[in-house]
Amino acid sequence: MNKTEDIQNVCLRRGIVFPTAEIYPTISGFFDYGPIGTLIKRNFIKYWREFFVQGENIVEIDGSTVLPEAVFQASGHVKGFVDPITQCKKCKGIQRADHLIEEKAGKFVEGKSASELTKIIKKEKIKCPNCKGELGSVRVFNLMLKTDVSPLGGQTAYLRPETSQNIFTSFQRVFRTSRLKLPCGIAQQGHSFRNEISPRHFLVRVREFNQMEIEWFFDPKDEECPDFDKIKDKKINFVTHQIQKKNGKMIKISGSNLIKKHIIPSKWMVYFLIKEFEFYKSLGIPEDALRFRHMLPEETPHYSKGNFDLEIKFDFGWKETVGNSFRTDHDLKNHMKHSKTDLTIRTDDGKKVLPYVIEPSFGLERTVAGILLYNFKGDKERGWAWFKFPAKIAPYISSVFPLVGKDGLPEKAKEIYNSLKKDFDIFYDESGSIGRRYARGDEIGIPFAITIDYQTLEDDTCTIRNRDSKKQIRINIDDLKDFFDKILSI
Ligand code: ATP
Repeated sequence: MNKTEDIQNVCLRRGIVFPTAEIYPTISGFFDYGPIGTLIKRNFIKYWREFFVQGENIVEIDGSTVLPEAVFQASGHVKGFVDPITQCKKCKGIQRADHLIEEKAGKFVEGKSASELTKIIKKEKIKCPNCKGELGSVRVFNLMLKTDVSPLGGQTAYLRPETSQNIFTSFQRVFRTSRLKLPCGIAQQGHSFRNEISPRHFLVRVREFNQMEIEWFFDPKDEECPDFDKIKDKKINFVTHQIQKKNGKMIKISGSNLIKKHIIPSKWMVYFLIKEFEFYKSLGIPEDALRFRHMLPEETPHYSKGNFDLEIKFDFGWKETVGNSFRTDHDLKNHMKHSKTDLTIRTDDGKKVLPYVIEPSFGLERTVAGILLYNFKGDKERGWAWFKFPAKIAPYISSVFPLVGKDGLPEKAKEIYNSLKKDFDIFYDESGSIGRRYARGDEIGIPFAITIDYQTLEDDTCTIRNRDSKKQIRINIDDLKDFFDKILSI
């Protein structure tokens, strides 16, 4: 069993994340978050908003997940959002052709046509991985989930495959009503749907997932990034085009060098990449397991001035977790053409502008998979397996335990719990030995444990145990709120 499978089992046992409608034969690629998973997910989104949205010139929207076909005709998804598939002639199983070739023949085939892929499968003598049967010709399959909205039929719509289209279609209204000025951003967090051919690796490839996308708009004639100086000396792990052709080993490179050496064509792009690197490190993912890859020309859409994926090293290999794309005015231009609506805006000096866009597109499930993987500690050291979640995203900041279940200790503990839970997510537990309760808290990654003992009744102090060091300090009950506020403000 690999580590991802191990973690999937832990998530099942602790009810963190589990297959949707699991009492029935399930459809793969759909997961429900249980109580602990829901708290982690909520805290993660809150943290992402604090890090990327608040304090920047960015507003948020919350758009519909069902969009009319016209939107996806304009965006190119109806025609182009396809993956190549091949069906086994014997067992009828369906495989994603490009992934199969990459796995079996070690060939990178991004951008190749269906007929080219069919030829490669024949030439490399690739067979069905399930039954060794002969594989049929490759054809393309659209990944969007289609629906029909009208009771009479004929009103085709799709579950959105990305959150960004709501932002482009509502761009002008949001820009005007929020009195935005370039450069500025519109962000959205919400569900996206893709009819993936082979969902796998737990949360990494699923059919319904959450994205957090920022569309950052700026005047194409004014690409200056005023905050660039603040981040320019910070370094990120990077894989250039040349490196990918040679040994694939990532380098550490500063923001200013990425610009000076013409590796990245925009200071705004560098600004986002550096923030992302800092953000993912703060989630407990080690620096060595993070890198940005400059997508190769054959992987990059024709309109893009450069795509840079933040990848996390999973136990099955590196995987894109944030897609960063310099989309120019491609999306707004297409929606303008198809909807026959003028989407240009006017700057303060009366200039008509169709802004350029840089898009950081975060995937929540892949991020959560990375967080679970790197914060999971096996049972060797403590006798129980536990999670070292950073305080910001832990399901609860602390638990509260009465040392024993008598002599007024539970009443005092409940009083403290009730007062703290107004401000924080707090876990209360009075069953079992104190050691067992510490272990239970560790198992779901609670960073602190408050214990109420006999001394508390005398002097209103309690102990706080640190999950990571297992050290305890004594603190006044009145100082608990400040203590947690300080931890969460870091
Ligand atoms: P892939 O090539 O792995 O399918 P993609 O290039 O299609 O990914 P994007 O369209 O750039 O992905 O989407 C942005 C982000 O959304 C990804 O970096 C990822 O974190 C997330 N994402 C996309 N598809 C899925 C999926 N099927 N399951 C979970 N997360 C996904």
